[in-house]
Amino acid sequence: MDCTVMDHYRRSSRNGFTAHPMDRRHNLRKDATWVSERLARPSTRFVPLWNSKNLLTCEDVPQPVFLTSEDIEDLGLTSDSATFLGEDDGNAYFAIELPGDEPNLQQTHSLPCRFRDLRAVSTLLDGKDASLLAYSRAIIYWHSRNRYCGNCGSPTMVSAAGHLRICSSGSCGLEHFPRTDPAIIVLVSAGEYCLLGRQAIWPEFMYSTLAGFVEPGESLEDAVVREVWEETGIRIREVHYHSSQPWPFPASIMLGFTAWAERGPVLLNDRELQDAGWFTREDIRMGIEKGSLKLPSVISIAYHLIEDWFDSAGLTPLRDVARRS
Ligand SMILES: [Zn+2]
Repeated sequence: MDCTVMDHYRRSSRNGFTAHPMDRRHNLRKDATWVSERLARPSTRFVPLWNSKNLLTCEDVPQPVFLTSEDIEDLGLTSDSATFLGEDDGNAYFAIELPGDEPNLQQTHSLPCRFRDLRAVSTLLDGKDASLLAYSRAIIYWHSRNRYCGNCGSPTMVSAAGHLRICSSGSCGLEHFPRTDPAIIVLVSAGEYCLLGRQAIWPEFMYSTLAGFVEPGESLEDAVVREVWEETGIRIREVHYHSSQPWPFPASIMLGFTAWAERGPVLLNDRELQDAGWFTREDIRMGIEKGSLKLPSVISIAYHLIEDWFDSAGLTPLRDVARRS
């Protein structure tokens, strides 16, 4: 099926962490005066990160907690260590790492709050909030792993409002830009069957689409073909792009594909998967109903790849199957 850019955009917008309309103001990040003015505004919000965790209220439906520049000063930090994220509704947003032991912010905010792993709570959050927190987590993680130059070992200095680190050595001066690691994820189908696998560390009964990192010198399509072959011994005939999803756990973007193959025997070539096999829609429906099959989170691109294949037969939609169980 031929798809337009807008078709892909619509598909991607269903994946979690893609829902922030923030204006990143890429062209103004290097303007120190402009950034300072944003840092000083009372309306500016700081997204705090501690130990790669986001600050959320302790309600049943958690809400993100933002800090003001006053809060930042109370914590003994300077706001110019923050990374500019962008502007939304006229407000500037920055991400800031809180170092050391877990800070006690109960006096700062009236509602009980705590630092939590975004991955564990993302299905409970509003899509826009989840996207903002994911963006913050990703950029702060990058800072935490790039304090020293990978070329000469000298400390790096923050520049461009947190979107660049420059080596402090005069003889090196290498520029380090935020990095995202591409990974492919693919729904392989063969007529009435799709190919799913599971890793040993996953929750019991969980199966998902195949995935893996793109290697240096490799196209996305080659990575899809290689990963499927390595993990299952299946040779793919056709590959089509589906959609993408930022996946800041810790620093990836998932690039989703669909692929067609002949249904052959599954061979766990590289033993990366504990199990893999061909599933019909009926296998999936019955597995979900009996509790012997679990699919990935509904915010994941993996779920949407499976859902689109499952629903393309025009039978009971996958969400309705899951809802009834
Ligand atoms: Zn260097």
